[in-house]
Amino acid sequence: MEAAQVVTSNGNADGDYQYEIISWFDSVSKNAAMVQTETLGQILHLNYGVEYLKKWFGDMKIEDMDACALESLYASLVPLASHADFEPFIQRIADGDTAPILTQQPITTLSLSSGTTEGRQKLLPFTRHSSQTTLQIYMLAAAYRSRVYPIREGGRILEFIYSSKRLKTKGGLTAGTATTHYYASEEFNIKQEKTNSFTCSPQEVIFGGDYKQSTYCHLLLGLLFWDEVELIASTFAYSIVQAFASFEEQWEEICSDIKDGTLSSRITLPRMRKAVLDIISPNPCLASQIEAICKDSKASNWYGIVPRLWPNAKYVYSIMTGSMQPYLKKLRHYAASLPLVSADYGSTEGWIGVNLDPCLPPEDVTFAVIPTFSYFEFIPLNKKKQDLTSSTVGYIEDEPVPLSQVKLGQEYELVLTTFTGLYRYRLGDVVEVAGFHNGTPKLNFIFRRELILTVNIDKNTENDLQLAVERGSEVLSKYGGELVDFTSHAEVMHQPGHYMIYWEIKGEVEERVLGECCGVMDASFVDHGYVVSRRTNSIGPLELCIVETGTFNKVLDYFIGNGAALGQFKTPRCTNNHILLRILNLCTIKRFHSTAYN
Ligand code: AMP
Repeated sequence: MEAAQVVTSNGNADGDYQYEIISWFDSVSKNAAMVQTETLGQILHLNYGVEYLKKWFGDMKIEDMDACALESLYASLVPLASHADFEPFIQRIADGDTAPILTQQPITTLSLSSGTTEGRQKLLPFTRHSSQTTLQIYMLAAAYRSRVYPIREGGRILEFIYSSKRLKTKGGLTAGTATTHYYASEEFNIKQEKTNSFTCSPQEVIFGGDYKQSTYCHLLLGLLFWDEVELIASTFAYSIVQAFASFEEQWEEICSDIKDGTLSSRITLPRMRKAVLDIISPNPCLASQIEAICKDSKASNWYGIVPRLWPNAKYVYSIMTGSMQPYLKKLRHYAASLPLVSADYGSTEGWIGVNLDPCLPPEDVTFAVIPTFSYFEFIPLNKKKQDLTSSTVGYIEDEPVPLSQVKLGQEYELVLTTFTGLYRYRLGDVVEVAGFHNGTPKLNFIFRRELILTVNIDKNTENDLQLAVERGSEVLSKYGGELVDFTSHAEVMHQPGHYMIYWEIKGEVEERVLGECCGVMDASFVDHGYVVSRRTNSIGPLELCIVETGTFNKVLDYFIGNGAALGQFKTPRCTNNHILLRILNLCTIKRFHSTAYN
């Protein structure tokens, strides 16, 4: 049976769906190599003749071609491509061109990703297949989790989930984040029914469009259903940490709403207000219990607040790897002994792998590639030996290999060919093969190539940083100053996190001018995630630190002392290195905070 049938067919007991989906995955992972060849064949037969493929295949006939021959022909004819190569095609689709450009079936929905290049959001095709694979991976992961952490049937999930605004493109297509499309899809409801666990908040809260109001309501409703909550979840761990940071401020107001069955005036969105007021009713007894827990917890800096408020919760579930790792410490503080289960690996382009070992700590989690979702290729990456100082690790690339040829311990960049019309698309993520589940690799997420600055949903590359610094230094030079060197750091230890840029300068410049440089740099990061987070203050004002003359020589000395060669030295443009940060902070003589978003 196809996975889609397993998760959408009715009439099965929940235990049956778990058994069926795990058996299905066992079977496709055992035959991963063959399944991959077939998956590519399916994609090419479905979309054969579309404009993009025609460029490379010409009028060649592929209908009767053997799947293995087609696989090698495909790799030899179709080149590796990046988002920039697909952009003109996707733009035409967005503008309303309904010709078969990337897929034979017309694309009616587009997803917005956070983007990795020059801070621009990427538009990507979204189809029914995207929602179906989301449902499949959620169900598969839920089945594996339930083996280790069984949850009560009919229970609730306190989910900190938020949709983005959905826009219409020039051609009338709906555009929004992939998760937004999923929350609005039938598959989101199917998931709740099949797993027999239901989110605490109604659609009006998820789709409210104001994350502060939604968070308040998620918390309030989560507390009202306190005894039914079986797990706490979010897409990215950052949301949970942020939710509890606001809980620390708002718990008294929440308690008063629970006591009187009212809703704080901070909830101004009429649809959200109505939906929440329809659910709540006065519960003074619950309010005083929560109040007592909070008063006590506050004294211990909210340590273990999650299991104290939700004693029936079995675990916390969210993406905790990659750029979310910095939030683990705070999450552990709130969750205390409650297990943290790291969620699956995917991107707006497509889902990649599932966490089959829910009991592993997030630091050790790997993701088993699902061979039916896309056709996966892997570009072997070998580190350049002497490039110790480069912040975006320098790699030598080899020819891409199919999934069946990956090697344990090797690092790769992922390449996807998807049912949604991306062909040999370089995702830009660096992964390492950490093991195998049957015949499919288990990947360790290493980092996003070229990505250097990130606090939460923002993603800025070295190039984006460079552009921002250039703008700031134009102001500096206008007033006679000169930029000697710079580096940066994403400060996430204190809420809200923020960017710090360290400048060494020459010449006498007034403080007013440096303040202006700081604001100009802040406003120059045009990455959508950054702009939205700055506007809502979930990323704080950019901080410009002026370091004393000679600081970057000390940085150089530090690297030389650790074996770097002067001839190859490049100042790291972004650093999390504690020793380096200590040098930079000890040498900071002036600090400025941007007022760009005030
Ligand atoms: P976007 O397409 O903007 O939503 O971002 C997708 C990217 O987020 C992926 O390409 C990864 O770089 C990162 N990502 C997604 N899931 C995970 C995960 N489980 N662990 C680490 N990084 C992840």
